[in-house]
Amino acid sequence: MRGRTLHDHESGEGLVSVEDARDRVLSRIEPLPPLELPLTDALGCVAVEDITARDDMPSFASSAMDGFAVRASDVAHASPDAPVEMKVVGKAMIGLRPDVTVGMGEAVAIATGAPIPAGADCIVPVENTESPDEDRVRVSEAVAQGRHVRPRGEDAREGDVLVPAGKRLGAPELGLLANAGVPHPLVRPRPRVIVLSTGDELIAPTDEPAFGQVHDSNAYTLFGALREAGATPVLAGIVRDDPEALKETIASYEIQADAFVSSGGVSVGERDVVKAAFAGRGDVEFTRVAMQPGMPQGFGFVEGKPFFGLPGNPVSVFVSFEVFVRPAILKMMGRTSIGRPTIEATLTDEIRGPRGKVQYARVEVGRGDDGWVATPTGGRGSNLISTVSRANGLAVIPVGTDVTPAGARVRVMIFRSTED
Ligand code: AMP
Ligand code: MG
Repeated sequence: MRGRTLHDHESGEGLVSVEDARDRVLSRIEPLPPLELPLTDALGCVAVEDITARDDMPSFASSAMDGFAVRASDVAHASPDAPVEMKVVGKAMIGLRPDVTVGMGEAVAIATGAPIPAGADCIVPVENTESPDEDRVRVSEAVAQGRHVRPRGEDAREGDVLVPAGKRLGAPELGLLANAGVPHPLVRPRPRVIVLSTGDELIAPTDEPAFGQVHDSNAYTLFGALREAGATPVLAGIVRDDPEALKETIASYEIQADAFVSSGGVSVGERDVVKAAFAGRGDVEFTRVAMQPGMPQGFGFVEGKPFFGLPGNPVSVFVSFEVFVRPAILKMMGRTSIGRPTIEATLTDEIRGPRGKVQYARVEVGRGDDGWVATPTGGRGSNLISTVSRANGLAVIPVGTDVTPAGARVRVMIFRSTED
């Protein structure tokens, strides 16, 4: 990756800044082509065009009460002492067009939700009436015009924008679109992201490790992170540290992939399989980014699809996902706000880190007496996934700081609810 080079005062290495590395990734990511998806699949997806009402909603005026549809002028003087007697000329039922008209002095029995018969302009609730027999009703209260009538078009008018382009469909939008008779809105689909774990030492979580073997945890961290970001993760399993095996696995998933994410094998060791497979060839660049954890990163295009080669350490995987992959996935889904919300919090304990890199320190954020408080969840080690599990945020310690003392105010990216 090209970009401004920083000089790390701890190591003296030339590193690419986080901003440049992220810009470089995002500048090459395009939103996925839109698809008409059934509502249940479109949940969480972004509308590509304004979705408008094809008719008034609701499309007919209906009763909000069980009672009688009448003309307000007929009952204008009704009271308990002087009830007005009306002739019952029929019944309006839900789901059916009324076959009667309400004339002067007439009433039609009506159920909640039933269409208002022609001629009526208000509903007398049943509790304000008395029926001496089937053909007569006595109204004991005056009712104003329009009372207890749900008018046609009250929710939306034909042509109104129901969901503007760019809006993400949530539960209310699903209901709104179903109501509007739009069962297949045009949205950006969820990217299918192929997850690969590289390493000869890895075994599945279901297997019992022999000495030196490690359960593949990164695939599951990435599965969860991708799912939570709105993507559809596909676990492609463990790939041995053999560049040909890696290329074969990737090729076998190409047809269903919108992107690939691998973990491990991007440093400089002889077993660094992702680097061995792609460095100096094709369109994947390997970069040292001024961040901790997550310094070595690979990014580019493989089989024409975005490829993220994340480092193998479990915490690096999580942080790299937050910094590079998640914003890219959201951009593919057409989301315009692609960053995590951040807050400012008071640090409870000192954090130490390298002066030449942005440090992403795992913290648990909670409410203190004076606003947000961030407690480091421990360990600088980038292999301690428990430190992420105890956290709900990443404190972002900028370049140029090695010791951040207790009591300092820090900016924290919140990656899950502080209530969880
Ligand atoms: P690497 O970047 O491949 O050198 O891996 C760095 C460290 O992360 C090593 O200790 C690996 O064992 C560990 N690691 C790599 N991949 C995984 C994985 N999928 N699950 C858990 N640990 C891993
Ligand atoms: Mg490895």
